[in-house]
Amino acid sequence: MRAFVDRDACISCGLCATICPEVFEMDDEDIATVIADPVPAEHEDGAQEAADSCPTDAISIEE
Ligand code: SF4
Repeated sequence: MRAFVDRDACISCGLCATICPEVFEMDDEDIATVIADPVPAEHEDGAQEAADSCPTDAISIEE
Protein backbone atom coordinates (compact mmCIF):
# COMPACT_ATOMS: atom_id res chain seq x y z
CA MET A 1 0.00 0.00 0.00
CA ARG A 2 1.07 3.56 -0.71
CA ALA A 3 -0.44 6.75 0.66
CA PHE A 4 -0.43 10.18 -0.94
CA VAL A 5 -1.43 13.63 0.30
CA ASP A 6 -2.85 16.26 -2.02
CA ARG A 7 -1.05 19.27 -0.60
CA ASP A 8 -3.51 21.69 -2.17
CA ALA A 9 -6.44 19.96 -0.48
CA CYS A 10 -4.86 19.58 2.98
CA ILE A 11 -6.23 22.11 5.48
CA SER A 12 -3.60 21.35 8.15
CA CYS A 13 -6.06 19.88 10.66
CA GLY A 14 -3.50 17.35 11.86
CA LEU A 15 -6.01 14.50 12.12
CA CYS A 16 -4.09 12.04 9.98
CA ALA A 17 -0.90 12.56 11.96
CA THR A 18 -2.86 12.00 15.16
CA ILE A 19 -4.58 8.85 13.92
CA CYS A 20 -1.53 7.31 12.27
CA PRO A 21 1.71 9.09 13.20
CA GLU A 22 3.74 6.19 11.83
CA VAL A 23 2.69 7.18 8.30
CA PHE A 24 1.71 10.86 8.41
CA GLU A 25 3.56 13.85 9.76
CA MET A 26 2.99 17.60 9.55
CA ASP A 27 5.83 19.23 7.62
CA ASP A 28 7.49 22.63 8.02
CA GLU A 29 4.60 24.27 6.19
CA ASP A 30 2.07 22.48 8.42
CA ILE A 31 0.92 20.30 5.55
CA ALA A 32 0.58 16.55 6.02
CA THR A 33 3.31 14.48 4.44
CA VAL A 34 3.80 10.73 4.09
CA ILE A 35 6.81 9.44 6.00
CA ALA A 36 6.37 5.72 5.32
CA ASP A 37 6.39 4.72 1.67
CA PRO A 38 5.33 2.05 1.12
CA VAL A 39 3.10 1.84 4.16
CA PRO A 40 4.27 -1.01 6.40
CA ALA A 41 1.69 -3.81 6.59
CA GLU A 42 1.11 -3.28 10.30
CA HIS A 43 0.09 0.34 9.70
CA GLU A 44 -2.17 -0.18 6.69
CA ASP A 45 -5.34 -0.11 8.78
CA GLY A 46 -4.24 3.12 10.45
CA ALA A 47 -3.37 4.74 7.15
CA GLN A 48 -6.74 3.74 5.73
CA GLU A 49 -8.53 5.11 8.79
CA ALA A 50 -6.64 8.38 8.42
CA ALA A 51 -7.61 8.60 4.76
CA ASP A 52 -11.25 7.87 5.59
CA SER A 53 -11.19 10.50 8.35
CA CYS A 54 -9.59 13.34 6.39
CA PRO A 55 -12.20 16.11 6.20
CA THR A 56 -11.16 17.18 2.72
CA ASP A 57 -10.39 13.75 1.20
CA ALA A 58 -6.82 14.92 0.68
CA ILE A 59 -5.38 11.45 1.29
CA SER A 60 -5.49 8.83 -1.42
CA ILE A 61 -4.50 5.20 -1.02
CA GLU A 62 -3.00 2.99 -3.69
CA GLU A 63 -3.19 -0.73 -2.99
FE1 SF4 B 1 -4.45 17.46 5.89
FE2 SF4 B 1 -6.40 15.65 5.71
FE3 SF4 B 1 -4.28 15.18 7.23
FE4 SF4 B 1 -6.07 17.02 7.96
S1 SF4 B 1 -6.43 14.80 7.81
S2 SF4 B 1 -3.83 17.24 8.03
S3 SF4 B 1 -6.64 17.86 5.97
S4 SF4 B 1 -4.30 15.40 4.98
